Amino acid sequence: MLIDVHCHLNLYLVPEEIISEAQQIGVEKIIAVAMSAVSQKRIMDLSERFKAVYPALGIHPQEVQENKNIYKELDEIIDFITIHSDKLCAIGEIGIDHYFVKDNTLWPLQEKIFKTMLGLAQKFNLPVNLHVKGAEKEVFEILPTYNLPNINIHWYSGPQDLVKIGLDRGYFFSITPAIEYSPPVKKTVELCAPTNLLLESDGPVRYHNQTGTPSMIPYVLKKLSEIKNIPKNDLKDQILENTKKIFNKIF
Ligand SMILES: [Zn+2]
Repeated sequence: MLIDVHCHLNLYLVPEEIISEAQQIGVEKIIAVAMSAVSQKRIMDLSERFKAVYPALGIHPQEVQENKNIYKELDEIIDFITIHSDKLCAIGEIGIDHYFVKDNTLWPLQEKIFKTMLGLAQKFNLPVNLHVKGAEKEVFEILPTYNLPNINIHWYSGPQDLVKIGLDRGYFFSITPAIEYSPPVKKTVELCAPTNLLLESDGPVRYHNQTGTPSMIPYVLKKLSEIKNIPKNDLKDQILENTKKIFNKIF
């Protein structure tokens, strides 16, 4: 069984096609991660309509520049997450981003939202799905101050020494189709133990000229098995075990 642990399923025009394509190729479960206030509701709707879809709710770190009203909407989002907490498999996509969000006057709000989301994860004993682009050090400093069941760092391309720290702390690193062309992603895979790897599409983000979809997961697995020099089926079993460990609520 293959699982896409990070997909923005609400952003596809026809999500049912994306889900059925994925299932035909062996991707049986998809974790749909939220970004905005609007996406929280769409993600819950999708998870109610499709058995293969498991919801994660949270506020993406880029929301501080996408939505000038995010501060005002925060309480409502916290209520929505609280009401649905028993249906969630994770809090995500959350984090800090100092790479795409260059305006540092937005950073304090970004950090406040991130810490609020971590507080919810701790309260409901849920793992987190993290975006750490350009703020890897900051996020790694904050994480030990919370008591979280498990941590998934998504699309990691930051400093290599932090990967080692993450592994020591038992974090899981999910790998995207960017493994095809991105040297930092390849480096993350090289540094990661097989016991700490997960698979994700981050769809519908674009990879070169192709829209990302959960159907790319078997390809990501193939690339990982080549880089790690582990037979594909062995690695597939290991990654399934890893996924069960962190996202036990989807099984
Ligand atoms: Zn994402």
